[in-house]
Parts: sequence; structure tokens; C-alpha cells
Amino acid sequence: MSSIKAYRFQLRLRPAQGAALRHIAGGLRWVWNQALAEQRARHARGERYAGHAEMCKWLTAWRNAPGTMWLSEGPVHPQQQVLRRLDEAYKRFFAKTGGLPSFKRRGKEPGIRFPDPKQFRLDVANGRIQLPKLGWVRMRMSQEFTGVLRNVSLTREGAGASARWSASIQVQTGETIAALGVAPTLGIDLGLSVFAATSQGEIVAPLKAMAQQQCRLHRYQRAVSRKQKGSANRRKAVARLANLHRKIARQRADWLHKLTTDLADRHPVIALEDLKVKNMSSCAKGTAEKPGKKVRQKAGLNRGILDAAWGEFRRQLGYKTQWRGGQTILVNPAYTSRTCRVCGYEAAENRKTQSAFICVACGHTEHADVHAAKNILAAGHAAWAKEQAPSPDACGGAVRRGRRASAGRAAPVKQEPTKEISHAAHG
Ligand SMILES: [Zn+2]
Repeated sequence: MSSIKAYRFQLRLRPAQGAALRHIAGGLRWVWNQALAEQRARHARGERYAGHAEMCKWLTAWRNAPGTMWLSEGPVHPQQQVLRRLDEAYKRFFAKTGGLPSFKRRGKEPGIRFPDPKQFRLDVANGRIQLPKLGWVRMRMSQEFTGVLRNVSLTREGAGASARWSASIQVQTGETIAALGVAPTLGIDLGLSVFAATSQGEIVAPLKAMAQQQCRLHRYQRAVSRKQKGSANRRKAVARLANLHRKIARQRADWLHKLTTDLADRHPVIALEDLKVKNMSSCAKGTAEKPGKKVRQKAGLNRGILDAAWGEFRRQLGYKTQWRGGQTILVNPAYTSRTCRVCGYEAAENRKTQSAFICVACGHTEHADVHAAKNILAAGHAAWAKEQAPSPDACGGAVRRGRRASAGRAAPVKQEPTKEISHAAHG
């Protein structure tokens, strides 16, 4: 069964955005009061009550009339929502389940509700939301959440300078449980010269822009260190560097979002190597299996950028597969790159070069990263089978090849518990 959940996030407004929100909220209060006055006047004249559609026509007229054109500076959908709420209040009154709607005083503005997910865009990775007439608004992403977006309401707590705005995001959950209990259908190996390889033979090259911008990053960093401490020039250089950092993070997130959405759409249950293990076991010197600095330099990406991208990739894949009712199963990557998936022979010599896997026992030859991804899928399968049937001897038959690989431990992506917030009837 699906259910509606609301998650509240505090907004981090720029001063101009705060002013714009107060203006919009003031407009909503005006719309409510004006429509209410109109209804009361009609009643006094003995005219029938005007329903929501008719009130929306009034709204259009107000937004175009010279004296009240300022209303059109605010988004139209929240204004229509206010009229819907007024209509509902009147219907309760007519049904004798509620009192006569009253005028709203200053400071008692209705919440700003955007009723349709088409009206806003959520950028979870960068902690921001794009809203009509407001642009991108930063949010404190204090909790993770899953579900299908439904609507968002902005509400104010407190007044004056201490006022804080928050966004309440409503999502529908539990609609896509179809993929639960489905075995993983894709394994993913994260690489250094390639960003990722899948068990279906797809190779994902790292984002070129990440490498290009790394040069600029170095230049800007040098510029900052050359400037005198406390000088205006240094402040400027620091701001420029911070801007570039944000830009890189945004580009990376956009690129990763496209990638992970596509993967999760096609494969709601994915086996992925556990990065933490990989990070801990890597060394500066490097081996064929886990190359050191030089390979990364060749790939054009430094460790920090790659680590951040891998971490973000895993995080996005984790919640996107969950949104689709599936999961991301994390697999210990030990031995997955050097155990032959055909005969099970495990040796470092199997990995002749960075890109070629050639088994010294049976001669099996394959793209090294794709081969590793297939081992990861097999290990994910074993972990999944164990999950389905908790008895210790039930998991034996699931994996036939790659003895060591199948022994790899696996765990579902850790998700922080989400806090359910009662969705009070604001907006
Ligand atoms: Zn072999």
C-alpha cells in the first residue's frame, strides 16, 4: 500500500529570496481576503456562491488589472491553491462541519504550496530546489527521503528578522514494491582509467569536464596561495576558487544523476563493490590490480575528485534503486578483479595489464573491468540469496563459479532512518 509522507527542510535563503517569499506570502493573504470579501458581497446581494473555477477567473482578472498587477509577480499555482482552500472551507461551512471562513490577518499568511511536481525541481545532491519566480533555493538536506514527489509547501515560522522558512516536501511511498525479492541483474565495477564497467559490458568513461576543470582548480589554488593573507585580492581569489568547487560539484552531480537514473531504471537491484574496502586496501605504490598515483594521473583525475564521484555514485544508486523498490547490494571487492569467473582460479597474474584479464589456468580472456563487474554480480547474487533464505546452508547453490568472489561479504546500502513528519494542513 502506498502512503503519503512529508519531509521538512529548512531553507537557506539569500536576502533577496527572503524578501520575495514575504511578497509572495503577502499576495496569497491578499487573494484569500479579496476572494472572501467578494463571496460575502455576493451573498449580501443574494447571488449564488462562486466555486473554485470561477474564483480562478477572478484571480486571472486581478493579475491583469492595473491596480493589482503586482500579484502576477508571484507564482500563479500557489494563488490558485489558496482559492481551493477557501472553496474547501466554504464547502465545510455549507455542510455544517466548519465555521464561516474568516479574513487572514498580517502574519497569518497561508503556506505557499506548489501542488504539482512539474512546478518545481529537486536537486538533492546539491541541496536545492528550483521554484517558479524564485529560482534555485538552497535547503539544509537534514534527512534522506524516498518516494515519488507530489508537492511542496513553503511555510514561515516566527516573524521579522528571526523568521525562518522551511519546505515541506510530500512524497508518495511504497508504490513500486514490484522489484522487492528480485535478484540483482547488474554488477558494477568502479575503475580508475574507466569510471565504471558493468557486467553487461558497458564501459563508462569518466566525465571529461572533471579532468579539464582539475587544471583550473590547481591554477586557482596556486593563485590563492600567492596572494597576501587578509588582502582584498586574496578574498577574491578564494571566492573564485569556491565558485569553481561548487561548479565542479554541480557538473559532477548532474552527470552522475543521468548515469544513475539510467542504471536504476534498467536494473532496480544492482550489485556494487563496497568502496570503503577498496579505499582502505589501496596503496600509493600500486599493483596491477590496484594501481597507484601514476595511473590516476594518466586518467586525469585526482584521488579526491574520484573518491567524491564514487561516493556520490553509490549514494545516488542507493536511493534511486530504493525509489524503484529495489536495492543496491554492496559487495566486498577483494579478489573480484583477479579470480577467473570461468574456472575460479585466483592469482594476481591473471590481471596482466590494467585492461586485460587473462586467466593463467584456463586462458579465459576478457576486458578486466567487465570481468570484475561479472564477479561482483555473482557475489551480489550470493549475498542476495543469503538474504532471501536466512538458513546458513541455503545459499550454497546460488553461485557456482568464482569460489573466492562468491565468499565476498555483502551488505545493503546503509540508509539513514528517515523521520516522518506529520503533514499539517499548511498550504
Ligand atoms: Zn580460468
